[in-house]
Amino acid sequence: MTYETNARHELRERAQSLSEAYEGQAATEVLKEAARGLFPGRIGLVSSFGTEAAVLLHMVSRIDPDMPVIFIDTRKHFDETIAYRDDLAARLGLRNLRTAAPAGQALAHEDPDGTLHQRDPDLCCHVRKTIPMRQALSGLDCWITGRKRRQAATRSDLSLFEQQERWIKINPLMDWTPEDIAGYFEREGLPRHPLEEVGYPSVGCAVCTQPVAAGDDPRSGRWADSGKTECGIHFENGRMVRG
Ligand code: SF4
Repeated sequence: MTYETNARHELRERAQSLSEAYEGQAATEVLKEAARGLFPGRIGLVSSFGTEAAVLLHMVSRIDPDMPVIFIDTRKHFDETIAYRDDLAARLGLRNLRTAAPAGQALAHEDPDGTLHQRDPDLCCHVRKTIPMRQALSGLDCWITGRKRRQAATRSDLSLFEQQERWIKINPLMDWTPEDIAGYFEREGLPRHPLEEVGYPSVGCAVCTQPVAAGDDPRSGRWADSGKTECGIHFENGRMVRG
């Protein structure tokens, strides 16, 4: 076993034991412990500033407003998402919002006419999301995600803590229902993403997101008419990461 393989094996075992230790605890308690006890100064939140993102952003703002909050600006977002990001960050007092974006050289090489998402969406997500995110995570040991088990078949067996490459990821809201999310928004008086009320229950890049009919799978508007369901930032070596 190489040193790197061994290190990742140890990290996976650590993620498993953390999941066993913290499974069933409230999301805020898990986050507090992660920020203050487990990974102090080495943890960040990766946020899409999508329709449910305000819950974790609010929790982080109350636990540590200086925690890095990483937004991946693919240069393909809706203007409404950018405005919502700026509004939420200001309202919540988040003091360490970091924007990760694809390098101009990479875009000029891989997507010179801006249509890569039509020809090869997996490569487009790799260039516009995965590479900038990995760079933004350098210097951190752990990142927090807002993924939920109910969102997709690929997420149905999420664990609370997971290993991905050299990081540990935490999914503190993995079991939250739409009602749990709605209740939190209401209790804390959080603003909704402006596109939600016009038919976008899940929001990604503008060119890859369509509105959906009431009652349809919220994520069915993402990469609609294609088999793609994940952008790839949660993949390792082309495969979905498991706990
Ligand atoms: S969601 Fe679409 S536009 Fe955005 S990075 Fe992925 S393929 Fe490209």
